[in-house]
Order: sequence, then C-alpha cells, then structure tokens
Amino acid sequence: MGKYHLADDAKVFWDGDETFRVRKGIWNYTEAVLAIGGEEEKARDFYRRCADALILERCFDPEAIGAAAGLDAEGLAAAADNFSQLARQGFLHTEDQSFLTRSLVNLLSMSFTGIDDVKRVQPALFLSTDPTSAKVAGFLSDEMKYPLDMADEALMAELSAVDLTTRSEAMEHLKAFERLEERLKPYSAILGCFLRPPIGALRNLNRVLVKLRIPLLLGFVDGPFLTLLCTSSPETGCFECFEHRVLARLEDTAAYTSFVRKAVESGRKKEGEGKAHASLIGFLVSSVLAEGFLASSLRINKLAGRIINVYLPTLEIQVQDLLRVPYCPACGSVAAADMDELYTSGRAVIDRMLDKIQIVSPN
Ligand SMILES: [Zn+2]
Repeated sequence: MGKYHLADDAKVFWDGDETFRVRKGIWNYTEAVLAIGGEEEKARDFYRRCADALILERCFDPEAIGAAAGLDAEGLAAAADNFSQLARQGFLHTEDQSFLTRSLVNLLSMSFTGIDDVKRVQPALFLSTDPTSAKVAGFLSDEMKYPLDMADEALMAELSAVDLTTRSEAMEHLKAFERLEERLKPYSAILGCFLRPPIGALRNLNRVLVKLRIPLLLGFVDGPFLTLLCTSSPETGCFECFEHRVLARLEDTAAYTSFVRKAVESGRKKEGEGKAHASLIGFLVSSVLAEGFLASSLRINKLAGRIINVYLPTLEIQVQDLLRVPYCPACGSVAAADMDELYTSGRAVIDRMLDKIQIVSPN
C-alpha cells in the first residue's frame, strides 16, 4: 500500500471526533462519509491521523501512520479496503495528480503559457447578419491571434437561398451541397452570432457540417431568450436536434409568444435598435469566440453537446444537454434516396434515347 493523495477538487471535514467527510465538486458535490465510532481505539486513532494528514498535507502514508498508531496487519487491511474504495470513486489518488489537474484547469481557463501546440490555431469561419457582430469578432480575433475569416454576404445569401433539407430537386441539391462543402471544408470550426437566428440558413449549414464533422458554435438572441450552443456531430446532437428538443419548446412558451406579439405591435425594426443590443452582441461574440478558440487550438469543447439558455428579463440561466434525436432528418437514422444513383440512372436513360437519334444531313 503506497501513499494516498487527496484529489485536487476534494476537501476533508471533521464532524465531531468520530466522523469525517471527503467532499469533491463545487455546486454539485458528492461526499463520502467515514464514521469511525464503531472501531477499536487503535483504528480510531489511525483514521484520525490519516484525516488530519489529508487536511494538513493533502496526502498520507497509511503504513507509516498504521505503525505509529500501533495498528495490526488485520486492521491495516480493513483500512486499505476503505481507502481503495475512496480511490475508485476519485476522492483519493495513488499518485499526485495535481500537475495534470493544474494543466487541465489552465487550458480550460485559456491560460496557455508554456504550451507550444496552441500556437498552431486552425482557421475558423465567423457568420453573422449584423455589422456589429463582425466588428466585435474582428477586434477580438485580432487580440487573440485567432485566424478568423468573416463570411461574406454572398455566403450568407447562398446559405439562405439553397435548400439542403429536401431532396426534390436532386441536381440542385447535389451541386449546392458540393459547393458549400468545398467552401467550408478548410475550417476547424464554424462560429455564428445572430440577433434573430436565420433558421433556414442554419439548417442548410448544419447539413453540410454534419457531413464534414466540423463543430458549430452558435450564440443568438431569439425573443426574450439568449442561447449558446455547440454541436459536434455525430458525438452530440446537431442543430436540427436542438430545434426538435429545445427551440420548438422555447417558441411555444407564453413569454416567447407575448414577445412576438409585442414586437409585431410595436412595428418593424427601429433606428438605433442595433446600438442598444451592442452589449448583448459583445457577450455573445466573446463567449462563442472563447469556445471556438479552444476548438480550433486544442480540439476541446467545454460546451459540446450542451445548451446554455438565459431568459433575459430575469436572467434565469439553464444548462441542458443536447442529445441526438434518433429520427433527426440531418443526423439520425432516416432512410434517404441515393441521389448519385437516381441521377446516373436518369442520365443513362437520356443517353440511351440520344443513341437512337440519328442526325441525317439533308444532302
Ligand atoms: Zn440531428
């Protein structure tokens, strides 16, 4: 039995002299309780010394403490069983994990000092429909040294104009799909910030990204709700899964409907509206860029498969999982016609017909 180290996020508390608790986690913590009241005096002394060592030094050597407390081999074996259970549940480690945890915490809190690989940040694409988002994203990406291309109006227009969700126009579908695939292939992540999300364009974009397996990081304000999400298909649900699971329900809430009614009553877009939203846009863009930077540099996504929803009037915040919908038309197991086959069979028919036509010279 070697030394035991306390996990980095674990703490030890005494409840009187007979019980101590090991707790890990912050808001959603889990606890292990060791009640030593029923043990013999020597064992009680042993456990007390171990808990004190964990509090003072964050590690202890059970054999050394056992010898000091005069514990026999049988007592030590029973204690070893307790400690190995705590180790299995992640409260204790047999090796010092603090360096590993510290590195991970540094990475996730975006402190990259001394990590060379982060210099190789892959380019990403930023989509938005308002100039303020692009301006904020441009400023932040320069500061972060994040190679972020701004999508031009033509790309947004094409994403809105094409229809990749139905296959009734097979040829157009294939051509548009290939065109967008070529356009988006070079990017490590696609980022987007919108004040009113262009749902049609996002569905089309999602279809291409599901195929290319590129993560999509979105931040938008829709009605009274602010939403941040990251899809990384096929590991997580895609944008259409999000629509099925969350967006449809949000749009059905009384708060959303009354917002829409009030927006219609108060007329169309007003002068200065964009300016009033600038702080919200700033928040959206910086959150999306912070996530995007991790995706483009370390392939880590803290938000992957999760949705942060904020009800803006009262700042109620909710985090939900973005699970796949089995019947999702974009990433689920739904039978679809094979366009290549349809197209080539159609062409074969035309070729056969053309073979039968003979052009005869009038002379
Ligand atoms: Zn899906």
